[in-house]
Amino acid sequence: MPPRLRAGPGGVNAAGPGTRRLHGTDDLRRRPLRLRLFPDPVLREIARPLDRRGRAVEALARAMLELMRAHHGIGLAAPQIGLLVRLIVADIGEGPVCLLNPLLTPAPPRDRMTEGCLSLPGVAVEVERARIVEVRGLDPPGSPVHFEARGLLARVLQHEVDHLDGVLIVDYPTGTAGGRSFSNDRGVTLA
Ligand code: ZN
Repeated sequence: MPPRLRAGPGGVNAAGPGTRRLHGTDDLRRRPLRLRLFPDPVLREIARPLDRRGRAVEALARAMLELMRAHHGIGLAAPQIGLLVRLIVADIGEGPVCLLNPLLTPAPPRDRMTEGCLSLPGVAVEVERARIVEVRGLDPPGSPVHFEARGLLARVLQHEVDHLDGVLIVDYPTGTAGGRSFSNDRGVTLA
């Protein structure tokens, strides 16, 4: 049962899956959060900057974290719940990270790791990414944040920002002659 920001009449997605493109948080307050799965076209859209701050965004980020954890993920991006705004959440076991309008600056070196994605159940792809990223953005109340992320957190944040730009792990060529590796017996499900 996915968490709801607010349950009750009208909470049903009356427009049907994938038929509405949400750009604000107002509509979402009356909707259940539902994980969008490939090939839902919303996963290929580019999310726009989120201009809302404060309690509604904090509540949304909390609900996204709940949904992420319910699916045993360690990150989630707003387009994965059909919301085309630049909001991501992550938790690699060191506490939640919630970022509005994240901007990542990758730094060398790079490494490879097999990733999964909550929107692509059963798919695993080896993806090369920077091991260190400089992270800028806002927290849900609207305060600027600036930190360096390394290792798994750096990887998750890059995976989530990809979602904001409509990029999925299946877009990455693997080290095996540019082919794709489909497997669910290794790697980690990021989001
Ligand atoms: Zn993902």
